[in-house]
Amino acid sequence: IRKSERRATSLLKLINEPAVTLDGESTRLVANIELPDDIEATRSLAADGVGLYRTEYLFMNRSSAPDEEEQLAAYRQAVEGLDGIPITIRTLDLGADKQLDNCSQDSTTCNPALGLRAIRLCLKEPKLFRPHLRAILRASALGPVKIMIPMLSNLQEVHQLKATLQEAKESLTRDGLEYADDICVGGMIEVPAAALAADAFARELDFLSIGTNDLVQYTLAIDRIDDEVNYLYDPLHPSVLRLIQMVIDAGKRHNIPISMCGEMAGDPRYIPLLLGMGLREFSMQP
Ligand code: PEP
Ligand code: MG
Repeated sequence: IRKSERRATSLLKLINEPAVTLDGESTRLVANIELPDDIEATRSLAADGVGLYRTEYLFMNRSSAPDEEEQLAAYRQAVEGLDGIPITIRTLDLGADKQLDNCSQDSTTCNPALGLRAIRLCLKEPKLFRPHLRAILRASALGPVKIMIPMLSNLQEVHQLKATLQEAKESLTRDGLEYADDICVGGMIEVPAAALAADAFARELDFLSIGTNDLVQYTLAIDRIDDEVNYLYDPLHPSVLRLIQMVIDAGKRHNIPISMCGEMAGDPRYIPLLLGMGLREFSMQP
């Protein structure tokens, strides 16, 4: 412990240095946040922004979903607490390993990770999704907010999301409430199908973020929460690396930013490899 504490202390001296490689390549180091305490940690570590705000934690361990105002209060706290650095708010990723108490999957669902989760659930439940989008949009009037969609597997979902977002904007305009009309919309690449079709997603979205926690799970067919198979969980599997490379290359071709927000991005063992593959934005726990 003393050795790792010493190392952490020596790294703290570097927090205000730019994150540039020896050969002059700039990187962005951003944070994954969930709880209010993470906001302070993100600021005190001088992160360049928040690359993943996991909103589902507002919805868990309670009997009903928070309403639009309660959500807005949480997003406002994050945006204002970050004091001008950009924040990427991920739309609800409920289902599978992140269950709402009152919407637990019924017993006929054998494979929740392959079931109605994340964007699939949101598009099917407008009563849940509309106030969520309105709250995120209202937060975008308060500071630099981007919106990010988890678990995309086909373009239809992107089109439906954009239509729903447009409706939410129009309803806010009718209500006289402010939002950033030019809010950036990005997608998470977590499903192998989306990585293989990264060009198509890159054409329609403003940025992509590689969610390796799920991408590894789905590529290698191992449940990320099943201890019996976690010895197979390998971000360096050649198939996973090929998919990651496809996404980075698609971002370059379409001139959009690519980040990584799975745990792989915060693991020092993988950073040299990912830099070499062309990744320049790393989002990790503060
Ligand atoms: C991921 O899948 O890599 C990710 C960042 O999302 P989560 O861990 O919240 O599923
Ligand atoms: Mg995920």
